[in-house]
Amino acid sequence: MYKKFQNHLTEVLNSIESAGLYKNERIIVSPQNAIIRVADGKEVLNFCANNYLGLSNNSELKSAAMKALETHGFGMSSVRFICGTQDLHKQLESAISNFFGTDDAILYAACFDANGGVFEPLLTEEDAIISDALNHASIIDGVRLCKAHRYRYSNADMEELEKQLQAAQQQRFRLIVTDGVFSMDGNVAPLDKIYELANKYDTMVMVDESHSAGVVGETGRGVTELYDLKGKIEIITGTLGKAFGGAIGGFTTGKKEIIDLLRQRSRPYLFSNSIPPMIAAAGIQMFKMMDESNELQDRLHQNTEYFVSRMKNLGFDIKPTQSAICAVMLYDAKLAQKFASKMLNEGIYVIGFYYPVVPDGQARIRVQLSAAHTKEQIDKCINAFEKVSKELRV
Ligand SMILES: *Cc1c(COP(=O)(O)O)cnc(C)c1O
Repeated sequence: MYKKFQNHLTEVLNSIESAGLYKNERIIVSPQNAIIRVADGKEVLNFCANNYLGLSNNSELKSAAMKALETHGFGMSSVRFICGTQDLHKQLESAISNFFGTDDAILYAACFDANGGVFEPLLTEEDAIISDALNHASIIDGVRLCKAHRYRYSNADMEELEKQLQAAQQQRFRLIVTDGVFSMDGNVAPLDKIYELANKYDTMVMVDESHSAGVVGETGRGVTELYDLKGKIEIITGTLGKAFGGAIGGFTTGKKEIIDLLRQRSRPYLFSNSIPPMIAAAGIQMFKMMDESNELQDRLHQNTEYFVSRMKNLGFDIKPTQSAICAVMLYDAKLAQKFASKMLNEGIYVIGFYYPVVPDGQARIRVQLSAAHTKEQIDKCINAFEKVSKELRV
């Protein structure tokens, strides 16, 4: 049997390769940071990590993790409800709900699991989920696992959302679900308008703050802060794997009864291991740092504004962004590929995105800013953009 299957897999892999979509992993031999060392010993400036606050190699987080390793051990060897809940897990959940101004929070191994386990326990075939077309894969999968009626609207298109809400009026409960920041353009969901429509059509709202938590809003509380909606959104999901230290872990936070029911029924919570104590301890320390100072958010916002304004002055075409994601538009797929590889020769690690990851003819270089970047490093990146665009006559 395997012989036939092997041939089949080889064919599939070849077709991925010949479509130019084969993903090769670059080996990094240093910690995650603004400067990373790759396997051949070369050092490059990193502009493609989700390390927005520069916390991935933060010494306070590392020492909190090491301390917990001593006091609370390495692993839990249990799901939460059997014997896998330590004081640290409860403290982290309460730090998360404090941060977002919500009632309670529930931890998962990843936000992929949080999104995978949020819809099915809460909604049934009597209900409706109205979803942005560009939502993250984990939201799409989570919705698939739920029997609720599905409605879809084009990215951030409020006219279409309203039409879908009208169509969904026959269902019992309705939930609009959206990413906070969309990772390809860096645009923010128009949560003010979504909230207005939700009220008009008696609907609940869920926001995935994975790319926005720590980043968007004056103090990094995410799109709910940007639109002054703290505590008003029923469900927020997010990750500890991006701005918040970048290790692992996800969460759902929001209304008390929602979190209570997820603890009883959410399958990735019930049937998957607790997060390690050191991850919980580092998370607690991270939220403490967020409460004490806004320095990292301020620096990230300054870095992003600086990058965007200098690039625009140089004539680069940048998608409007309200996050730390900047899409430098090149439109042509081959050009984007070539551009990114020339950038790497200049010591700048950025990624080219092209169809089918983004719409055909919308190829771009995605740049992700971090609080860890110095002005000199950002200047180097901009200078490389200038040089490469001259070489390629863009
Ligand atoms: C990254 C991301 C996730 C997945 O988070 P993990 O914790 O890495 O599983 C989910 N949703 C969105 C919007 C994301 O950007």
